[in-house]
Amino acid sequence: MNLILMGLPGAGKGTQAEKIVEAYKIPHISTGDMFREAMKKETPMGLEAKSYIDKGELVPDSVTNGIVRDRLAQADTEKGFLLDGFPRTLAQAEELDLILEGLGKKIDDVLNIHVESEVLIERLAGRIICRECGATYHKTNNPPKVEGTCDKCGSHDFYQREDDKPETVKNRLAVNIENSAPILEYYASQGVLHTIDGDRDIQSVFNDVKTIIDETN
Ligand SMILES: [Zn+2]
Repeated sequence: MNLILMGLPGAGKGTQAEKIVEAYKIPHISTGDMFREAMKKETPMGLEAKSYIDKGELVPDSVTNGIVRDRLAQADTEKGFLLDGFPRTLAQAEELDLILEGLGKKIDDVLNIHVESEVLIERLAGRIICRECGATYHKTNNPPKVEGTCDKCGSHDFYQREDDKPETVKNRLAVNIENSAPILEYYASQGVLHTIDGDRDIQSVFNDVKTIIDETN
């Protein structure tokens, strides 16, 4: 049960990852955790990664791939794993296949939680903050009780952080879509890509995820 989880920011990937690892008792391998662990344990690859991060430089692919190889060789992945945040490029996807081949493994399913950009923009760009007291709201999911008035202090002055503005969110999503397209194509050509409609409640999405995993593993 060797799985990769993919999805754009805001698609609900984190929630589904939690449910998958809980239901199938496989380790959740996220890039961030993997790096932190390798650096904490001071593995050769971890130390090399740290030397780049300390200098504020990007960690080269060769080091990232080494960390992934070390992690996927650990005993807890024997029954499977859920990879999250890797691969980020087509080159990493190809390298991952080589790493797995060396370990006598392969990817069984790539689960792509798909939500249309327009919906994601609304989810991600809806955060507003009261300028007076700092209370945060979401335009649609968690609006103030009276439109335009802060519940806590009664102020009418709201603002959005640069990161939460629709234009910024739009650009971030566009970069993500562009980067993930060749990876999705790569896995589609291998016949392991499953696209799941993520614009539904958490349980409905998870039911589809489960059906796919159970059918192919
Ligand atoms: Zn306020």
